[in-house]
Amino acid sequence: MKFLHKCITAIILLFILCFSGCSFDSKYDAEFFAMDTVMTITAYGSNSTAAVSSAENEINRLDALLSVKNKNSEVYKLNADKSVKASDDMLALLNCASEAYDLTNGAFDITTEPLTKAWGFYSDLENRVPSQKEIEKALRLVGFDNIKTNKNVITLDGGATVDFGGIAKGYASAKAAKIIENNGVSSALISLGGNVRAVGSRPDGSDWSVAIVNPDDTSRRAGVLRLSDKAVVTSGGYQRNFEENGKIYHHIIDPRTGYPAQSGLKSVTVVSQDDCLADAMSTALFVLGLEESSKICLENSDTFGAVFITDKNKIYVTDNLKNCFNSESGFEVIA
Ligand code: AMP
Ligand code: MG
Repeated sequence: MKFLHKCITAIILLFILCFSGCSFDSKYDAEFFAMDTVMTITAYGSNSTAAVSSAENEINRLDALLSVKNKNSEVYKLNADKSVKASDDMLALLNCASEAYDLTNGAFDITTEPLTKAWGFYSDLENRVPSQKEIEKALRLVGFDNIKTNKNVITLDGGATVDFGGIAKGYASAKAAKIIENNGVSSALISLGGNVRAVGSRPDGSDWSVAIVNPDDTSRRAGVLRLSDKAVVTSGGYQRNFEENGKIYHHIIDPRTGYPAQSGLKSVTVVSQDDCLADAMSTALFVLGLEESSKICLENSDTFGAVFITDKNKIYVTDNLKNCFNSESGFEVIA
């Protein structure tokens, strides 16, 4: 009788597990700090622990390679020596930066580094408003044409310096996703600060829900995207900023003025298969504002889509995302 009782209990538990949508796949969560931000990876499947651990190692490797302030990094050496025999990673990043520079008429420009430094947007520097003279001096060093490549050697002319901060996380999320997939995991969610990469779909085959943060209150959401196998990258002035004399200054610099971009936007989210391009475009579209960005999005609708939140809290969504986006506040589709 006791045995029968145990059997019935076991069968009931099995039913509860099956109908509650739980899979028997193991789930592994990791949280760590890299590239100046908190990162999380959730992966499902029997090899998820090893997959996530390899992905974390890769992100740390790239962090060490791309940090502008770490004296042993490749970027530090390039900026100091003005020439470096570049790794495949740096060449790939430069390719991505160059594509984004061309697509955005220079709004995405890795040679804004002297400006980012002048405004103190390095984690070990103090934020401050630079004088007009300092900004003009830094602006004279900005120019993507100063970057020259000859096979795998990158050279910087005209005193230029570079900073891959606008694409490093996007590049890292693509590499992490590849490693996770190569470890046999087909369902994972990678979140590197504002950069999210959906690997495959959820374990039950449905789309992932990726929230877009409300820029006025980051504990709330402005909307939700439902998608699989895509990168979702958000850039916004709320992510990193400081206040001086009652004015807020953020970390996304307009290379034309040398000042934090003032384009009427609170945030831009870009969705693409290409993580690095999504990262570059979210930064650049934030600089350009809704009108100019809409044209770029329309011309490249087979490569990426975007969700814009304006200073007046209106949400605009490109046509290619209208069926996977939802917001309680409503939204307008960019025609
Ligand atoms: P994100 O958070 O991806 O939008 O990138 C912002 C970071 O990219 C900044 O912290 C800088 O390191 C760098 N950055 C700022 N302005 C630009 C720009 N106009 N083009 C390229 N990189 C930029
Ligand atoms: Mg970016």
